[in-house]
This record gives sequence, C-alpha cells and structure tokens, in this order.
Amino acid sequence: MKPEVAFYWCASCGGCEEAVLDLAEEILNVVAAVDIVFWPVALDFKESDVAAMEDASITVAFINGAVRTTHELEMARLLRRKSKLVIAFGACAQLGGIPGLANLSENAEILQEVYGAAAPRTEFRDDGHTLTLPELTASVFPLNRAIPVDYYVPGCPPSPTIVQDAFRAVLGGELPEPGAVLAPDHAMCDECPRRDTHPDDLKLDRIYRVQERQLNTGACILAQGVPCLGPATRAGCGARCISGNMPCTGCFGPTTKVRDYGAKALCSIASIVAGDSSGDVDRIFDGIADPVGTFYRYSLAASFLQRKHTEG
Ligand code: SF4
Ligand code: SF4
Repeated sequence: MKPEVAFYWCASCGGCEEAVLDLAEEILNVVAAVDIVFWPVALDFKESDVAAMEDASITVAFINGAVRTTHELEMARLLRRKSKLVIAFGACAQLGGIPGLANLSENAEILQEVYGAAAPRTEFRDDGHTLTLPELTASVFPLNRAIPVDYYVPGCPPSPTIVQDAFRAVLGGELPEPGAVLAPDHAMCDECPRRDTHPDDLKLDRIYRVQERQLNTGACILAQGVPCLGPATRAGCGARCISGNMPCTGCFGPTTKVRDYGAKALCSIASIVAGDSSGDVDRIFDGIADPVGTFYRYSLAASFLQRKHTEG
C-alpha cells in the first residue's frame, strides 16, 4: 500500500501550494509514490472525507499557512488526529509568516480598515437557513501553537530542492530527530556566493533602503549598506534573493542556535553600526523605515513578543 499524503493550507498566500507544483517533473515521481488523500486547493476532497478516515491513517500531512481562523484551528486538529506525521510547510506554518504581522493590530481595527462598515457577519439567517463564517482567532499563531508538529520545512515559499529533500526524507524513512527543521543548520552567509566580499570588520555609517542603492552585483549587499539578514538566517534556499541582487529578508528563519529570529537579526545589524554615541546609532537606525517588518517579517507570531502589547 502506498503512503497516504494530505496537503492543507491555512492563512497563506498560496505560494507554498505552488512550491509543490514547482517540483516540475519530480512531482510525477511523488504522485506515483503516494496516494494523495486530501488536497483541497487542487482536488475535490471535502472536510467530511477526512473526518471519515481512521485516526493516524494518513502517513503525512503537509500543512502550510499560519492559524488565523477558528476553522483553520479545527482543520489543524482534525489533520493532526488523522495523521502519523504533521509537517509545518513554509514560513507561515513554521513562524507565522507575513500573516503574523496582523498581530500588530487588533482584529476590529483590521476588519474596519479592510471592510469599513461592510465588515462580514459571522452568522447570517435567511428563509430558515443559517450561514456561518469562522471567527478570527485572537492572534495569528504558527502551527505548533495549535497542534504538535513533527517537522518543519522553511521558506517563503520553500525552495524546490528543500521540498524534494523533504519528500525523499519522509518517503525514504530517513527523517532526523523529531522537531527538526528539514534544512541545513548554518547561516545563509556561509552559502552565499558573495561571502568572500563580506568584510570581517564591516562598519556601517548609513543604512539604505534597497531602492536607494544601485547594488553592485558582485559584492556583499550588507557591505553596501542595505540590511541583508543572511547572517541571522538559516541556509538552504541556494541564496535565491542574493542571486536576484536583492537582500535576504529572512524567510528561512533561524538556525537551532537562535531562540528569537528578529532579536538575532536586529543584533546582526546593530553590531556593525559605526559610531560611539546613542545619537549616532539612532541616526543610522533611522534608515530602517519599518523595523518590525524588517526584522520580524516572517517571525513576529513565533517571537517572544508574539504581538503588539498595549498598556492599560
Ligand atoms: S550579508 Fe547577505 S550578501 Fe552579504 S554575504 Fe551574507 S547573505 Fe551574502
Ligand atoms: S535569500 Fe533569504 S529571503 Fe530570499 S529565499 Fe533565501 S532565505 Fe528567503
């Protein structure tokens, strides 16, 4: 009997689903090796199909996206019950991802901003029928705050090589210790083609936004004054953004040595700021227009802070 595989998405952009299709011809090998028993974005399975399955009958469920609604929470719990292994697939499932930045606002503020007076009701009755919508959860959170997660596949989205390696590890039964991130455990700078141009004694007296610089394609981006989070970020993507002459924004998250990705990323920049006075540091850091979006872009929901806290 073939291994049974489920795919599901919670709060995400769909890029992780594309990442599976980005396997190109390799996807034919995956499809031939497994039975896909649930993949609502691609095939017409229903939630009731999953509910009818035996507990722990699915070999592995790949769940992408953060948890943002009560329905996603229910689906995560259902798939956990029905699956032997659950893999948090992509930055949003692993760390909360971009949807986690919603934790900078209250739900009422978000609904007001997006819908104004037309904010959707979670229950609507008409002609004897009742329609319901799921509620927003109080905060956005990564998958492992909803259910136990066995493994993590990083990236926004995960790169084809990382996805291929994850499938091979799962299907070949060659998985590391439970709880592992299925990617190398060293920093992006170590695999960056520009690493030899990163000076050991780098000091920045100004920080630029990427659009303010004509970046030299052969030199370390951080050394050119643009925050590149390669020193804080786990390797494994093949330095995709650097190859496109853009800074690493940290989607592969931290290595195992780091407990709070954003704090590590902030330190990696703070440690190379030139100047001795707090005035110098403030002036240089003024070049970072959006500190939370820069340092916690993918990981706010999984950070020590988790969300914006207000006094009172
Ligand atoms: S800081 Fe960025 S550009 Fe520089 S070596 Fe590290 S990953 Fe490469
Ligand atoms: S370079 Fe950084 S932001 Fe870009 S894909 Fe790789 S880990 Fe993600």
